[in-house]
Amino acid sequence: MPELPEVETVKRGLAPTMEGALLVRAELRRPDLRFPFPENFAEAVAGRRIIALSRRAKYLMIELEGGDVIIAHLGMSGSFRIETGPIEAGADPGTPGAFHHPRGKDEKHDHVVFHLDGGSGPARVIYNDPRRFGFMDLARRSALADHVFLRGLGEEPTGNALDAAYLAARFAGKVQPLKAALLDQRTIAGLGNIYVCEALWRSGLSPKRAAGTLVDKRGRPKQALIALTERIRAVIADAIAAGGSSLKDHIQADGSLGYFQHSFSVYDREGEACRTPGCHGTVARMVQAGRSTFYCPHCQK
Ligand SMILES: [Zn+2]
Repeated sequence: MPELPEVETVKRGLAPTMEGALLVRAELRRPDLRFPFPENFAEAVAGRRIIALSRRAKYLMIELEGGDVIIAHLGMSGSFRIETGPIEAGADPGTPGAFHHPRGKDEKHDHVVFHLDGGSGPARVIYNDPRRFGFMDLARRSALADHVFLRGLGEEPTGNALDAAYLAARFAGKVQPLKAALLDQRTIAGLGNIYVCEALWRSGLSPKRAAGTLVDKRGRPKQALIALTERIRAVIADAIAAGGSSLKDHIQADGSLGYFQHSFSVYDREGEACRTPGCHGTVARMVQAGRSTFYCPHCQK
């Protein structure tokens, strides 16, 4: 499943083609993805200029002139690719994005085609999704905060709003395991399984410890929570940076942008040596709330 840094990378990869372009036509090749497309979706977006691309949690937002916003989610297997030039030319497709698993490019899974007229001529942004867990919706910008997928989301792990005092207020008195508390999207929006594992490993904190143990009796963050907060932000920033450089590398290579193979320090490394300097532990895996947790029982306390 694409994580926040991957969606951010997709946004950055699509922005140069989409921002400022005219969305001439949205071609829907089936009536639904995970959910049916909104009624009149194609009619509502046709002929509108794209003002900006943005992201909230793992949602990609395509903001249109006139106040509508297309909300897109990549689900498990969704990806976008860009084709430029006339349709018959068979121009090189580019798949902006950076994902842990390779993307399908089988044309039978091309479900949506945005036909654009941009500064450098016609282009097509194609949404491909073999498993169809992704979806697209349309909302008014003024009503986004109340949208069913967006309301109640916590702070982004990318901005200054996520700080230790905020997390302390959320964690105070909680016996819930730290791993689960960090995955709660009402606390941190878009932080997923991989990066929670990585941030906990960087912090030397056990995923099993009670979230409330990081808060002192007066409700203030302990030093460990201050450090954890910084590492959450760093792990996401590092991954976004890696996504950005993968974007550049792929453009230079052959114009085809794949999901990047980001190397993780602890995620997916069960049985391998812990990389914490001076630690002789071995990475272990356990299942918490149905999700795999990778951690070092030796140095994560
Ligand atoms: Zn270790």
